[in-house]
Order: sequence, then structure tokens, then C-alpha cells
Amino acid sequence: MKTFYSPAHLEHDPQAQFEGGQLLPAVEIPARAERVKAEIEARKLGPILPPGAFDDTPILRVHDAGLVEFLSVAHAEWLKRHGINAPPAIPSAWPANGLRDGRQGDIEARLGSYAFSADTPIMKGTWQAARQAVNVALSAAMTVKSGERSAFALTRPPGHHASNNVFGGFCYLNNIAIAAQWFADAGLRPAILDVDYHHGNGTQTIFYRRPDVFFCSIHADPAFAYPHFLGFADETGDGDGAGCNLNLPLPSGTDWSRYDDALSRARLAIDAFGPDVLLVSMGLDTYIADPIAMFQINAADYLRLGARIAQIGKPTLFVFEGGYAVEALGQIAVNLLEGFEGK
Ligand SMILES: [Zn+2]
Repeated sequence: MKTFYSPAHLEHDPQAQFEGGQLLPAVEIPARAERVKAEIEARKLGPILPPGAFDDTPILRVHDAGLVEFLSVAHAEWLKRHGINAPPAIPSAWPANGLRDGRQGDIEARLGSYAFSADTPIMKGTWQAARQAVNVALSAAMTVKSGERSAFALTRPPGHHASNNVFGGFCYLNNIAIAAQWFADAGLRPAILDVDYHHGNGTQTIFYRRPDVFFCSIHADPAFAYPHFLGFADETGDGDGAGCNLNLPLPSGTDWSRYDDALSRARLAIDAFGPDVLLVSMGLDTYIADPIAMFQINAADYLRLGARIAQIGKPTLFVFEGGYAVEALGQIAVNLLEGFEGK
């Protein structure tokens, strides 16, 4: 299996994040992708290739131009306001509860209007990293479209929490949604399976009214887990997209047996949709030792997860999302991909 990777992600290097009212060491850090890359090399999964260059057209098919423009200038605007030694840009106010949208306002108003949470800093290398992650995802998508059974986009920062017009949850541009739309524009019928611990609220929102892209997410119940405001079982799609969205929220402490039942339901629904191509939001924060999550999937289970995804029997694009147990991340990522390959 080919992996696509860009070192641009190294420049997006958060040091701290707000969680539970505290400023804690960041978890979405460069070492995550580097650990996965090292394990791919050690276990000889396949070649690791640089991405090709794509213009903004595929991005603007899913994201509002205003969000894309904002992300590309936000850090420079932030430094202009707060000085060249300012810490990373983080919003401190949001236009909630009847306040007026501030997308046309100053940097503080724009930041609060385009961000939905305070965990997603914008720093010097953020835009370049996010933009290159899209190239990584699209390059891997091209490989699958050209006839290969699978490819892995080692994207960082992740993407599945970013919607058409808001970013958050460590995500800026929605890599997998951009790839799915790219397949759809090529005349193919994509299904997305999101196995990250957290609901893929951005991806769901982007395709919620669409009958031509199926979205299925298996995740921690938002009744107790991030992103808190989306990902419930009664969200099944709207308008022309009614029936094309399936959420399978699970309780804290979910182990493989319970997870596998949800996977079976997901597979039935994906089979019924009849996709030409499967895209997997490959979050690994379901792992038992993940520092910010509460499932109990163990390292060997990821081999089973890969094999289950292979049983769906479609050309498959894997796109890296969350997963914060850095020490184990390489092993469990390659376990999943080798499980898919039947090793
Ligand atoms: Zn996650």
C-alpha cells in the first residue's frame, strides 16, 4: 500500500491546549505522524511518496471561500494585532445566542465566527500544513482512482471536525470530505466510514443534504464526548440526503465485541448504499491507552478492524485523523492497514 506524506506538517507544532478549563500540553503534535511514518518504514508497508500539487478548486467544492481565505491570512492578521511575539491565535469570544456573525469583522470577530472551539490554534506553519494535508489526501485519492486497491493519506493536521464554514477540534480543512467530493466530481459514488473516537461532525455537516455521498460514523456518544453538539443517532440526513447519514454512538468503555457489532451495522448500511469507493476517516483514539478517550480497543483489535474494512470489498482510501497515544500510534496504525491487506 502506498502512503502519501508531506513534512509540511512539522511546522504546525502546538505546545499547549485548553482542556477541562486548564492549559495542558498539546496532544495533536508532529510526533504523531512521525511515529506512524517510522513504523510504515520499519514494517515495509510500502513506499512513502510526496504529494502532488492541486489548486484550490477541490477545496472550494466543500469549503466556503471565506473560511479558506481567513485561514490563509489569520496568522498574519493576528500578529498585526498582537505583535510579532504573540502566542498562537485562539478565539476568546463567539457569536452565540443571538449575537451578530463577525465574519466581516476584525481578526477577533473573524476568529470567533470561523472557529467552533478553543482547542485549535493558528500559528506560523498552520496554513501551510493544512493546505499540504489536502494535497496528501488528493494524491492518495488519485492512486485509488487509478485502480489500486487502497492508499493511505498520512494527513496532519486532521480534518473531520472542520465543516464547510467552521474549523475546530484540531482540524482546519476537511481532508476526507475534499477527497470524497473529488471522487463524486469524477462520477464515482463515495461512502465515508469514520472510525475516529470522536464524531466527524464536519464531514456530516458537509454532506448532510446529499444523496450521493454516504456518511457513517462510529464514535463515543456526544452525550459525554466531544464534539458535544452533533453525532446523535437521530441525525439521519435531511432533504435529498435523508437516509444517507448513519451515526452509531457508543458508551464509555466500549471494547472490541461491542465495537464489532457497530461495524456490522455500518457495513450493512454501506452495502445498501452501494458505493464505488470507500473512504475511511482513520482515527486511532479508540485505543485503550489513548490519553483523551475512553474506549478499550487493543492493539490486536486493529488488525481485526482492518480486516473488517477489507470485507466491505471496495477500493479504499484511508485518511489519518485523531489518535494521541503517541508511543503506540505507529503500531496500531500499521496493524489496521496490514489487517486490511490480509497480513
Ligand atoms: Zn478523535
